[in-house]
Amino acid sequence: MKTILAFDLDDTLYDELTYVDSGFAAVARFLEQEKLAGFAETYAFMQTRLAGGRGRIFDDLLLHFGSYSRRNVRRCLTAYRLHKPAIQLYPEAVACLARFKAYPLYIVTDGNKVVQYNKIIALGLPALVDRYLITHRFGVHHAKPSPYCFTRICAWEKVEPAQVVYVADNPRKDFIGIKPLGFRTIRVLTGQHRSVEIPEEYQAEQQIVSLNALDDALASLFRRREPHLCKR
Ligand SMILES: [Mg+2]
Repeated sequence: MKTILAFDLDDTLYDELTYVDSGFAAVARFLEQEKLAGFAETYAFMQTRLAGGRGRIFDDLLLHFGSYSRRNVRRCLTAYRLHKPAIQLYPEAVACLARFKAYPLYIVTDGNKVVQYNKIIALGLPALVDRYLITHRFGVHHAKPSPYCFTRICAWEKVEPAQVVYVADNPRKDFIGIKPLGFRTIRVLTGQHRSVEIPEEYQAEQQIVSLNALDDALASLFRRREPHLCKR
């Protein structure tokens, strides 16, 4: 049976906080270039303020440094979203994508279209996977937990949902929408959501501590189906 592997992006294949950090540095550079505030102070402010969440962080930053205006908030947001991110795949992700390169490999990710595209390019993923789907390109209502992009994969690959495995980190939205349709699910305990405890219907069928354990999880999922005998 042909098996398709689909991966989430943020906190599954790389550490999302490294993107946030890279974005803060871009905003700090922008503020310094515009002579609104110095790099070191604004960068440190954002790092400290992050503990309170990312919402309104640029409002708070500009208020603190006496440069608040709605226009400057928008300019900070633009600097953040358009910057070329300095990010890297987890070493386990590099090894995993290489190990499974004989399988059809997909990425399904939510988030701002430009931001997610810049991340995918920075991580070199177009050369490593068959196709990446940024759900917001199909309309915000097709973001997870919508199964829309997953059913597209089934149509392209001419497979049933039971032949598609989604590997992802966020049990709040990654599995609840696709499990009822028969898609297979594996949660990787990495990133910001690794300690989230949640009712059974939100959980993946299998949990792994890192992508290094994906082989065993797949073998366990398909115990009687021998997926490794037929990859494409
Ligand atoms: Mg994620």
